[in-house]
Amino acid sequence: MIADKIKLYNAQNNVQMKLKAVLFDMDGVIYDSMPYHAEAWIKTLAHYGVTFTPIDVYENEGRTGAATINEVFERQLGRTATDSELTEIYAMKSRIFDEINTITPMRGVANLLKKVKESGTAIYIVTGSGQKSLLEKLDHNFPGIFARERMITAEDVTKGKPDPEPYLNALAKAHLMPWEAIVVENAPLGVQAAKAAGIFTIAVNTGILPDDTLTKSGADIVYPSMEKFAEKWEDLLLAGK
Ligand code: CA
Repeated sequence: MIADKIKLYNAQNNVQMKLKAVLFDMDGVIYDSMPYHAEAWIKTLAHYGVTFTPIDVYENEGRTGAATINEVFERQLGRTATDSELTEIYAMKSRIFDEINTITPMRGVANLLKKVKESGTAIYIVTGSGQKSLLEKLDHNFPGIFARERMITAEDVTKGKPDPEPYLNALAKAHLMPWEAIVVENAPLGVQAAKAAGIFTIAVNTGILPDDTLTKSGADIVYPSMEKFAEKWEDLLLAGK
């Protein structure tokens, strides 16, 4: 199945995949953190008189905080947020998230990261998150897997997903062509960003949206979990390395 998808990608792009790096999104891929982001967004926006549903959270996943706030403000209040509102709302959302987040790695991810590392494939993180403690957290949960020079965070980009900039930056940082990497994403806007950068994209549907939201965003293949993707790693290597 994955071999067929890679063949199709090669034919459509007139390239030959030569896998050298896996570019991992973080929330909803490495960490099971989306339910906490959802709760924090819903509570915070309710405080500002704005109704935000779990579906809204997952549909906006991948955007920067400011873009998320402006999207819902425009939809419900007919205006964008002021700069001070943006600062206040994002600070409150971050505070609530930090209070409730229990930092649970996604099931199957440790096994997958071990296999990717052992295959000699480089491991990158491409996230819209700007948390200062990010690398320490990753190092604590997955010792020896990640490095700051192999991370693209909020600090490294001016435009967030769905713009391809974060993934184009990762390719530039790794000195790779699009067909020398794959992306692992869980969100429709993240998939759109990766595909706009020309990269083969595996979606893992760890959230609450139907699979076809990921397919319609351009995902080359959709798996139901990181555990399932980990099972397919050897097939991927065989077809793409
Ligand atoms: Ca994500």
